[in-house]
Amino acid sequence: MSNPCLKCTVDQNCCRDLHGLTLNEDEYKKLFEGQSGALTITRKGKLYQVFSYGKGACPHWDQQCTIYGDRPMDCDLYPYTMGNVFEGDGEVYATYHSRTECPLSEQLLGPREKAEDLIRSFLKKTYGEDYRITVRYDEGAARAYHLARRAASKAKRILIDGKP
Ligand code: SF4
Ligand code: SF4
Repeated sequence: MSNPCLKCTVDQNCCRDLHGLTLNEDEYKKLFEGQSGALTITRKGKLYQVFSYGKGACPHWDQQCTIYGDRPMDCDLYPYTMGNVFEGDGEVYATYHSRTECPLSEQLLGPREKAEDLIRSFLKKTYGEDYRITVRYDEGAARAYHLARRAASKAKRILIDGKP
């Protein structure tokens, strides 16, 4: 099967410009510890986040992902992305959204049920089986993003047509 990402029109920046890739400790230790290079890695509770601020690609990027079968859950989830994660009193509440620059998102976004299973299993591994896990799609964030994109593309068309 051909790789749809070969037709990427945004320079494959999902791997070349990381802005909040979420990892648990196992993923961080196995894949990112000690090789952050130009990356900024933050930690909040049990989760880590990786940012490149446009200064460097993922260390596992070499024209394609070099650890594809072993990539972090958040990479597997893409173009869905984990949003906020709140933890307390034996409960974890997480959101995810489809607010993305990926030009092939309509083709690549799978069913939400599958995305939610992936996130739930990641959170169980991260927090333990005893935690109550709730995962919700962030409809508001996705809708606001898609409306903004539509408005931007309309504005661009008007400009090109010379009919502002
Ligand atoms: S997932 Fe989307 S943004 Fe990433 S390389 Fe593929 S087409 Fe490009
Ligand atoms: S681990 Fe692979 S899929 Fe994930 S950001 Fe790095 S190169 Fe991309």
